Amino acid sequence: MFNNLSERLEGTLKRLRGHGRLTEDNIQETLREVRMALLEADVALPVVKQFIADVRERALGEEVMKSLSPGQAFVKVVRDELMRVMGEANDGLDLRVRPPAVVMVAGLQGSGKTTSVAKLGRWLREREGKKVLTVSADVYRPAAIDQLETLAAEVEVGFQPTQSSDDPVAAVERAVEAARTGYYDVLLVDTAGRMHVDEGMMDEVQRLQSAVSPVETLFVVDSMTGQDAVNTAQAFTDALPLTGAILTKTDGDARGGAALSIRYTTGKPIKFLGVGEKTEALEPFHPDRIASRILGMGDVLSLVEEAERSVDQDEAQQLADKLKKGKSFDLEDMRQQMSQIGQMGGMAGLMDKMPGMGNVTEQMKGQVDDRQVARQIAIINSMTPRERRRPDVINGSRKRRIAGGAGMQVQDVNRLLKQHKQMQKMMKQMKKKGGMQQLMSQLGGGGGMPGGGGGLPPGMGR
Ligand code: GDP
Ligand code: MG
Repeated sequence: MFNNLSERLEGTLKRLRGHGRLTEDNIQETLREVRMALLEADVALPVVKQFIADVRERALGEEVMKSLSPGQAFVKVVRDELMRVMGEANDGLDLRVRPPAVVMVAGLQGSGKTTSVAKLGRWLREREGKKVLTVSADVYRPAAIDQLETLAAEVEVGFQPTQSSDDPVAAVERAVEAARTGYYDVLLVDTAGRMHVDEGMMDEVQRLQSAVSPVETLFVVDSMTGQDAVNTAQAFTDALPLTGAILTKTDGDARGGAALSIRYTTGKPIKFLGVGEKTEALEPFHPDRIASRILGMGDVLSLVEEAERSVDQDEAQQLADKLKKGKSFDLEDMRQQMSQIGQMGGMAGLMDKMPGMGNVTEQMKGQVDDRQVARQIAIINSMTPRERRRPDVINGSRKRRIAGGAGMQVQDVNRLLKQHKQMQKMMKQMKKKGGMQQLMSQLGGGGGMPGGGGGLPPGMGR
């Protein structure tokens, strides 16, 4: 997902580096490239136009900080704008009503509604401890009802049978009653879709919606449908009071433009991504992570981080203190440290701030591979807060999820975890024995400083 777009943006943005400041002239070409990149990523044209107009305005506006180079400033504007369009933060399901909370999905046939209902059922049961009932309003196709029944059994949630002779509204009303008397927390309503938007379908989902007033009405859309997704999204937005969207099949989509288009068109948050056929293949949608993914994990992301830096003595001192204490050094600390290292011009900058370290500084310069650091940060970004605090909970399936989220391999995650362990150990020793001298001699294997390897943060001291 987003691979093409990020590659393209990366090249484009690099070209801005030479310029002194952003002007109408020098961003013209770049904006054209961004526009092409978005169109290639299958973002719908009206969305692209608005996006470009907003970026131009902001790039030329006063909010670009004077301290930044034009390339940095521009990347920051693009990323901020991507995040703004896609919503600021993850919006989970809002189920705070008297149970049963009814959640209805709607979308075209084949968009992934039934699969998403099963995924949501599993998610709610496993992660949120909810008692879940499912029902199919797709009464026209017995096979559709069977499909939901099978999936519900697989994910171990309740299933309310419906007959093909049922009226869908009556069937769903009965399920609400069953959910109430059975003390279910959530009722997931699967609906019938058609191949194309048609009045009959819209009429039916509207009737269902007003009959049971769901707390969440989710538009399910196949990310592979590209430009068409906008028309469909518009039709469903007009017909239903949507509360959000689920973007499915993102595992097969390298372009990713639908995320932008859908968010823009519906005006509602994308709440989840479908990332595979299996019932666990559901991820909460994080606009900030997606924006970073669009911009690529390599040079561009580190450019942004550089752009956001505020290199001051306080920050350096805090880090030095933390290092000295060496206490509770978890993955969150590691991430902070790595991004600060990037901000301070690498390990060299950090050393400068540490007592007795001035003389090794020169040797350290040029030892930091920022790209690598950015990759490591991306891996930690894909973890949950709990995983960062307690890396020992990260098992095989979590590793796969984390790797996928960061667009990397499981072995990259393993490498990071190993490095974290080494750093943690280092911190402990530092605390015990005291002093950076000790640490440095450990790192360098007792000899010359750079290239010591072992416990150094990734990308440093190769
Ligand atoms: P519905 O007609 O909207 O109920 O769609 P289904 O839930 O039956 O899904 C249609 C097809 O898409 C099925 O073959 C699903 O396995 C597949 N599918 C759904 N979501 C995803 C996803 O996130 N990734 C992949 N790879 N396939 C998916
Ligand atoms: Mg279905």
